[in-house]
Amino acid sequence: MTTYTPMMQQYLSIKSEYKDAFLFFRLGDFYEMFFEDAEKASQILEITLTSRDAGSPERIPMCGVPYHSAKGYIETLVSKGYKVAICEQTEDPKQAKGVVKREVVQLITPGTITEGKTIDGKSNHYIASAEQLSEDSFAFVYLDISTGEANSSIIEGGAKTLLQQLQAYNIQELVVTEQLHLMLAEQAIQLGIVLSIEQGEMNNQQVEHYLIDLPEAIKGAAKVLLQYIERTQMRSLSHIRPFKYTESKQYLRIDTNSKRNLELLESIRGGDQKGTLLWLLDETVTAMGGRKLKQWLHQPLANLTDIENRLSIVTDLLDEFFLRNELRELLKSVYDLERLAGRIAFGNVGGRDLAQLRESLRQVPAIKSQLLQSGKTTLMALGQKLDECAEVEQLLSRAITDHPPIAVKEGDVIREGYNEKLDELRFASRNGKDWIAALEQKERELTGIKNLKIGYNRIFGYYIEVTKSNIGNVDLSRYNRKQTLANAERYITEELKEKEAIILNAEEQSLALEYDLFVSLREEIKSFIPRLQALASEISELDVYIGFAVVAEKYRFVKPTFHNGRAMKIVNGRHPVVEKMLHKQSYVPNDCILTEDKNMMLITGPNMSGKSTYMRQVALIVVLAQMGCYVPADEANLPITDQIFTRIGAADDLAAGQSTFMVEMLESQNAITNATDRSLLLFDEIGRGTSTYDGMALAQSMMEYIHDKIGANTLFSTHYHELTALEEDLIRLQNVHVSASEKDGRVVFLHKVKKGAADKSYGVHVAQLAEMPEAIIERARILLEQFESKDVQFQPKESVKEVAQLSLFEEATVVEEIASSVTTDASTDEEKLVIEKLEKLNI
Ligand code: ADP
Repeated sequence: MTTYTPMMQQYLSIKSEYKDAFLFFRLGDFYEMFFEDAEKASQILEITLTSRDAGSPERIPMCGVPYHSAKGYIETLVSKGYKVAICEQTEDPKQAKGVVKREVVQLITPGTITEGKTIDGKSNHYIASAEQLSEDSFAFVYLDISTGEANSSIIEGGAKTLLQQLQAYNIQELVVTEQLHLMLAEQAIQLGIVLSIEQGEMNNQQVEHYLIDLPEAIKGAAKVLLQYIERTQMRSLSHIRPFKYTESKQYLRIDTNSKRNLELLESIRGGDQKGTLLWLLDETVTAMGGRKLKQWLHQPLANLTDIENRLSIVTDLLDEFFLRNELRELLKSVYDLERLAGRIAFGNVGGRDLAQLRESLRQVPAIKSQLLQSGKTTLMALGQKLDECAEVEQLLSRAITDHPPIAVKEGDVIREGYNEKLDELRFASRNGKDWIAALEQKERELTGIKNLKIGYNRIFGYYIEVTKSNIGNVDLSRYNRKQTLANAERYITEELKEKEAIILNAEEQSLALEYDLFVSLREEIKSFIPRLQALASEISELDVYIGFAVVAEKYRFVKPTFHNGRAMKIVNGRHPVVEKMLHKQSYVPNDCILTEDKNMMLITGPNMSGKSTYMRQVALIVVLAQMGCYVPADEANLPITDQIFTRIGAADDLAAGQSTFMVEMLESQNAITNATDRSLLLFDEIGRGTSTYDGMALAQSMMEYIHDKIGANTLFSTHYHELTALEEDLIRLQNVHVSASEKDGRVVFLHKVKKGAADKSYGVHVAQLAEMPEAIIERARILLEQFESKDVQFQPKESVKEVAQLSLFEEATVVEEIASSVTTDASTDEEKLVIEKLEKLNI
């Protein structure tokens, strides 16, 4: 057996408790890593790998980072999905007998990190936990440690839905029990989500108040999450709010695919937010407002009263141009109150944070009085609710200097006049410094050495420095040599020594006292955290409302109205994002009229004519309206929609190497099984991914099914001209087409949606406009006639490539079965093939 030094034994014993983390082991001014940790970390962090004698015959690998710059290294590791255990010396090395005591004081993980480059001010940073309740439902809880916000819901759907939810909220760490870990591990890794295991439930009275509003079914998951956070963070979590529970029916539900298809929060191409609805809508000026807006986009409302409340606030703000601008200016000086509150709870606020808190609170009285004096009922009500937290502002104004430094231990944080004792100590030390300046002058005169100076360093304290050329003039009866430099000598006198003790003592005491005062101030403010959080929430909503008013004015939006039926009337609706992106060209507005009796539309028209844009614009108007925002139209009278399902956009699925047709079928299946007569369905080019007759047959049977069994408001676009004949059979269906025309021999897209079906030989027509040789055009016309009369079947290229041996109908059935059961023990080869495909799709 290898015998390690006592310190190494200490290291190994601590490391054994944190096997899944990098152990940052504090050694003096460094955090050191050893063995495998060192080898891995040196590669990831690009730092030098060295070795160390550890008592064993062989030296062991080691690398380290200075403690004062450790933050960046920790962030890098955590952002790559690793955990870092911070192990500190927990006793003064000078007082230690034997090895200095060390303990892990915090485990920093992807979900619990609260600072650094991975934390975006305008986004929440959630950690989540889930528990399986039945075959296809999960308890889901998530909280943001930096803001203390905690939420929960029940997810209806299998593991696939759970994982989609995690992605939608950009959750990087999921805390689960061992069973669920087994079930999810593989897919989670693919999605870059860290799974952390937390076993059992804690029986801790203290957590009860976090769970007060939760249904029983959710409590287990919430406890697991709280237990994990308590175990890893090892510090005050007093700012974490009781979990909120939201029943999914309270919101307009939009599944993750549809959120992506509609580009609500992220663009289909990925990358930045440009081109998303969020990008258009985000006129917030505070980070908190930015986060709130995202939350509202994730969960538009489904309750008429709530929606109308929001809308009337926006209306009032829209009326008040000057008020709106003044409020916005005030909000710009409000810092992130929520995260400041979190840092106060955590105990890692610095002086500057408290100054920011003070600055923020100073804006509130003005915001409040502006609202109260507005004369608008909704705004006055908002003003009434604002709690100025005046006690905190006064306390901070008395206690904290105007421009405190970031670090707390350097002094200059506590204001003069706050504490008598501190003032005395500061006076003594400042006085001492004046005395030293005077002494320097006096000694220069006594010795006649003009460049004599008095300096200070941490090791030798105060000294009188004389350059070598002048040492002859030094009075050695008073001066004692202390230190020799290359070109100077340093001395001390009795007088200086005495004063030094007084000065240093005063300074040391003053810094220590200042720190104590700061800590108790922080503790005092802790008790205000719930009030600060409530204030933060009010402020962030105000910021979003003002943003909505700004957007409404900037892009000429109107206030939507609602009714209890299903009919939808949008007059001159626009796609706000496409409109914004079109430069000189202007956007062609379009109506969308769905009545109780005719609530399905079949949209035909050539490629690039604007079918998909039209469908999306209808969905975006519904989303915006139910968020409580105005909408891009001249008039919008809408039903309350419960869910939106989309099947849009095949180009990108292809780019990702997935089977277009498979994605189509899965998304359609999801829509068809979950939609109600209150839902909005958007089906773009169903059946495009397969052969003509297959695709057409499927498209038709799906339309019939939606028509007969579901009754949802549905927009269906197709290039199968034959489907337009369905209008005769399906009474709720109306044909529309997006028009195009020709000008100077070129196709001109008019982007105008008109009644009736499109001209069926449009393709040939376009080819003609493109000056294709006349022979080809003639031949195409003949072939077209033949195809139409003889039922000749042809296979588009894509389908040959993608859907191998299975007949498409068989495949579609298998997909349906599998998608609804999420079993993974496939028995036949065909099933395996389909499962493989499903897995590729992250399902
Ligand atoms: P389709 O689905 O018919 O192939 P798209 O909806 O993708 O066509 O539209 C193609 C392009 O036409 C869009 O990218 C947009 O630039 C433009 N477009 C679509 N609708 C309009 C409109 N109503 N007004 C102006 N331009 C539009």
